[in-house]
Amino acid sequence: MAQFRAIVVEKGDQGTSAALKTVDDADLMDGDVTVRVSHSTVNYKDGLAVTGKAPVVRRFPMVPGIDFAGVVESSTHPDWKPGDAVVLNGWGVGETHWGGYGERARVKGDWLIPLQPGLSPAQAMAVGTAGYTAALSVAALERFGMTPDRGPVLVTGAAGGVGSVAVALLAKRGWTVIASTGRPGEADYLKGLGASEIIDRAELSNPARPLGKERWAAAVDSVGSHTLANVLSMTRYGGAVAACGLAQGMDLPSSVAPFILRGVSLLGIDSVMAPKARRLEAWRLVGESLDKDKLAAMTTTIGLDGVLEAGKAILEGAVRGRTVVEVK
Ligand code: NDP
Repeated sequence: MAQFRAIVVEKGDQGTSAALKTVDDADLMDGDVTVRVSHSTVNYKDGLAVTGKAPVVRRFPMVPGIDFAGVVESSTHPDWKPGDAVVLNGWGVGETHWGGYGERARVKGDWLIPLQPGLSPAQAMAVGTAGYTAALSVAALERFGMTPDRGPVLVTGAAGGVGSVAVALLAKRGWTVIASTGRPGEADYLKGLGASEIIDRAELSNPARPLGKERWAAAVDSVGSHTLANVLSMTRYGGAVAACGLAQGMDLPSSVAPFILRGVSLLGIDSVMAPKARRLEAWRLVGESLDKDKLAAMTTTIGLDGVLEAGKAILEGAVRGRTVVEVK
């Protein structure tokens, strides 16, 4: 019987634990496509899964890893044949269905999309779910009608994964980008990605007034809580904010003032269950507008044996940009 290496999260009396193990092919979950996984990544949610800090894993034992890139080994799905290069983001993979931190994955073919032309599997995972979420956010702002001539765009959590990709994409698409970070030492990094102005996230971290000075036309917020409330209160008349994250918290201690007095719109971004057309649109946007050198500048590469450490670090807000996992 064939075996492969995988990070496995198990549940015991003391809570959950994660370790690199050898697993049998026979243990793979149901699906109509088997993929040889070459790369995965460490997203915020993966940090929660491997540390057990929040109950994102809802079935045990679980191979975490909410995204992967690889090559189809076998398929009974009409869209996929052996040798196809594929990418998966979300769909509960790494939470309820074995995910990307294993050398092999068996999934539903409907969850897969083709590797974006022009990207290697490693580059696609340097983008990963965080970067694809950044692209979903940019696409949502543009679909809403937001254009760079309306004024600057703010990106919160800018030195993180979603934030770094959002800064690079927005700058390339002609926006003047204001990057909010708690790490002033990353100012040069963020300017290198295309940010024009850096602000201290402390300006946005405390309870918000209903309305503040109008500072930006649009925003991509990966932080939530008081930060999102402040972002909304300082968005210009008629502007829009794409809310995609909760790094500060899941709450939104805000008022309706920005909505009813300034016509500000809040656009919700979900990457997990996003329909295929939206996924393809986001990945096209990445293909069009993400400079490969900037992508390389924001990427650190580790092996499966580095995932547990990286998972802890991302929860501490200590990871810069994106972390790719070379699975095989
Ligand atoms: P990262 O940890 O890489 O980035 C988050 C960044 O947020 C940090 O780097 C830090 O940026 C900032 N931050 C962290 N803690 C705080 C805090 N207490 N207050 C203010 N800012 C803080 O994570 P990702 O980029 O991978 O994910 C970002 C968020 O987006 C997460 O909440 C994640 O769950 C969510 N997400 C949502 C998705 C969706 O489908 N909607 C998909 C993917 C991610 P800095 O140091 O620059 O201040």
